[in-house]
Amino acid sequence: MASTPATDTILLKGGTFLAHEGTNVQILKGYDLLIEGKEIRKIAKEITPPSRARVVDCTNKIVSPGFIDTHHHMWQSQLKGRHADHGFLDYMLHGSLPSYNYKPDDIYWGQLAGCLESLDSGVTTVVDHAHMTYSADHATAGINASASSGLRIFFCYTAIPRVKEWSSSQLEYEDEVFPEWWHTQLESLARSQPFGDGRVYLGLGFDSWKLPEKDIIDLWTKCRESGIKLFTTHYVVNATPGKFPFPQESGLLKPDLILSHSTGAPDEDYKIIREHGAFVSSTPDTELQMGLGYPVAFRDDIKSNASFGVDLHSNNSADILTQLRIGMQYARAIEDEKRVRNGGHPAVNIKVQEAFNLGTIQGAKAVGMEDKIGSLAEGKLADIVIFDTRSPAMVGAAEEDPLAALVLHASVRDIDTVIVDGKIRKENKTLRPIEVQGAPKFGSGTQIKWADVVDEMLASRAVIKKRSESQSVDVAREVLYRRYSGNPKDTQGSALRLPRVKRTSLYFTRIIMETAFIEKVRLCSTAAADSHDLAWCWDMTAVKLQPVPMLQPKDLSDDFDPTP
Ligand SMILES: [Zn+2]
Repeated sequence: MASTPATDTILLKGGTFLAHEGTNVQILKGYDLLIEGKEIRKIAKEITPPSRARVVDCTNKIVSPGFIDTHHHMWQSQLKGRHADHGFLDYMLHGSLPSYNYKPDDIYWGQLAGCLESLDSGVTTVVDHAHMTYSADHATAGINASASSGLRIFFCYTAIPRVKEWSSSQLEYEDEVFPEWWHTQLESLARSQPFGDGRVYLGLGFDSWKLPEKDIIDLWTKCRESGIKLFTTHYVVNATPGKFPFPQESGLLKPDLILSHSTGAPDEDYKIIREHGAFVSSTPDTELQMGLGYPVAFRDDIKSNASFGVDLHSNNSADILTQLRIGMQYARAIEDEKRVRNGGHPAVNIKVQEAFNLGTIQGAKAVGMEDKIGSLAEGKLADIVIFDTRSPAMVGAAEEDPLAALVLHASVRDIDTVIVDGKIRKENKTLRPIEVQGAPKFGSGTQIKWADVVDEMLASRAVIKKRSESQSVDVAREVLYRRYSGNPKDTQGSALRLPRVKRTSLYFTRIIMETAFIEKVRLCSTAAADSHDLAWCWDMTAVKLQPVPMLQPKDLSDDFDPTP
């Protein structure tokens, strides 16, 4: 790694360090860590502070690599709190469609608040599936906010179905999903990245699988040739027979790809993903709540290529520790259920170290930066989180088992300090001021505090809410139903008439039935089922159906052809 001029020197002194050796996490007690510029220069038992160094006392602290979130939509801060009881369709109506109500300035404040929430919670790198690109200015605002925040981020530029008009009487889409300006901006951004002092990289977010395969291959090839190093797509299958969306001969499936969720796929798909070196991103909070399926990260056949994401901070907290915890305990429960059913006794095979790795070094592998981030090692970039061990939650656990303290006891309030790229972004449990770039009202080069972000984000939230007052959610819901079921009135029937799953198409359809974990019955698809690539889902609890027995893949034979 090229050496960075030592503009900042920080010595972390006398902490308990979680240092990887491969996938094994060593607990180094009473160690020091020296940061020079952006890099970790030295980790040793006793480092004499250089004269220019700032010394951070890490007595009673656990020092961890920063967490890596491999699937997130960062612009949605203004929508927080509205999805508490939402299934996927409700999320689409109240969380995805409202991007129509965002002007570029709203994107800026939503994105910045999202980035700062991630930093506050110990996340130092995020893969942002930026599906809010209504115009080039929207994307620019998202990138400026990302650069301003101090977070390391892959801004995955996305083409979206854009609403042309949403009123009290209609919802109409633009004809073109890939307008000319989108291609022009993509090329220009690819040429000029990275942004934000080298922390903000361009990626491609892609869900437009309805395009002809040749066009998809041409676009991805062009992106790879222009230096884009990360691709991401939503991939949600489930019990229906479908074909893996990446024909192996297409060349699309490579180690630079993250498939978010990847729930409910046939076993063969996980093998293909693994063999091609691509990664999945599990987001247990939204997957379990919104009927996306069961988190896969701990499955034996994919965990070597798994990582974790937050998905929606509009729906749940932005810290990776919570996602690891939910995902791990879910996976332990599934394993135990099988074991007990087969006459065995409850036992735990999935260890907290595996969970910790999935949130750190595995995330680094997923974004292709294993040699730079994801662990505390000399020569790596200084992306570091420091936990206070004297809080009511941590005390005792930290002394007994630092890994357990983090994975099972820590929360955001225990995070004392967050460092990204050698710069302290949070200290004494408080976010530091940031120097903004291209900020509405503040311009560039101004220092602003979190309290300023709060004021601007809340003002933007109020405006967005006001804009929505003249828009009918019922009309939007009806458009989605009509588009996918053929009959908006017949909600019960529509739920039973799945569109045909074309084995050669990229339509992912799935069924989730009543389980101990998801107490709702939903029929969903993230199918790119028409030119607008809208994901869709029917929450059958909304039409008051009774739960029905679990459908197995075998039930969905060729006879099961519910094509409208
Ligand atoms: Zn997502």
